[in-house]
Amino acid sequence: MATSVVTGGAGFLGSHLCDYLLARNHRLICVDNLETGSLQNIEHIRDPAFTFRNHDMIEHLEIDEPVDFVYHLAALASPIDYLRLPLHSLKVGSYGTHNALGLAKFKRARFLLASTSEVYGDPEQHPQPETYWGNVNPVGPRGVYDEAKRYAEALTMAYHGQQGVDTAIVRIFNTYGPRMRPNDGRAVPTFIRQALKNKPLTVFGTGAQTRSFCYVDDLIRGLVLLAESGEHLPVNIGNPEERTLLELAELVQQLVGTSSEIVFEALPVDDPQIRQPDITKARQVLGWEPEIGIEEGLLRLLADQQPETNRPTAPPPSAG
Ligand code: NAD
Repeated sequence: MATSVVTGGAGFLGSHLCDYLLARNHRLICVDNLETGSLQNIEHIRDPAFTFRNHDMIEHLEIDEPVDFVYHLAALASPIDYLRLPLHSLKVGSYGTHNALGLAKFKRARFLLASTSEVYGDPEQHPQPETYWGNVNPVGPRGVYDEAKRYAEALTMAYHGQQGVDTAIVRIFNTYGPRMRPNDGRAVPTFIRQALKNKPLTVFGTGAQTRSFCYVDDLIRGLVLLAESGEHLPVNIGNPEERTLLELAELVQQLVGTSSEIVFEALPVDDPQIRQPDITKARQVLGWEPEIGIEEGLLRLLADQQPETNRPTAPPPSAG
């Protein structure tokens, strides 16, 4: 039975990863300081193979048993959190990643870094392949997240090259699904919260900026395939189905059946204008591609959030 450590395991993606690995009969050590994660995300887990450690990854992590995989997801992932705690964002990307890599080295475990499409910044190349180096503003407000992840990638490659640690890097593109915090400021949970309350949907700028949204089940499947492969260089995992934020807001309006209007607010500083993964490498190396489109994914998310009597059942309308 393989043992996996998941840092950030009480967060959105981390808790889904815990569920997935437990279903594959892994022993699971979930490490989280609950800064943005929550025990609610893991309280359904009753498996004796699961343990929770309340620990800040900025500090050294001691584990007294063999470990086969270290999935390093701990980070301040939402703009509202890394703008609130910019130094913590840099520390978890640096000290936190050192500690996670040190654990993997000591245990001779396979290490997977959860990196991000934000390493590409506001890209001049579209869609973004892994070979694109990015266009990041290091001194802008988002630099504390983007550069922390870029540093974490460089650190991961250095542990691999100099110390022989078996490492992998996944560049995650926008992912959504159950257990996202409704107030974390990311587009999908914000639109859904607003639509369900019949409040105006707030779109930044003109809404012409694009994102590509991946449903969480697809993402987790890709992440584990990568961890179980022999790949060391970064791999994009995301859904190439690209939408403008205005289209996304309109789709949420339709699926929820709300009469809320769409209102426009100022664009945040350095907000990327386009975002779409080139997943050729994931297809070739992992045989992975997403299976759940945006409409089906949003309906699944809504079904998870609404009481059974109020769930959308009709086939989804076209997004136009
Ligand atoms: P999340 O906020 O739900 O999860 C992050 C978890 O890390 C939280 O449980 C938080 O409490 C924990 N954490 C933060 N600092 C910590 C520390 N110092 N020590 C221990 N735990 C700490 O966010 P998420 O969306 O689940 O993101 C998970 C990972 O995936 C992050 O590394 C994020 O950068 C990356 N990612 C996510 C997305 C996405 O669309 N969700 C996109 C790109 C990258």
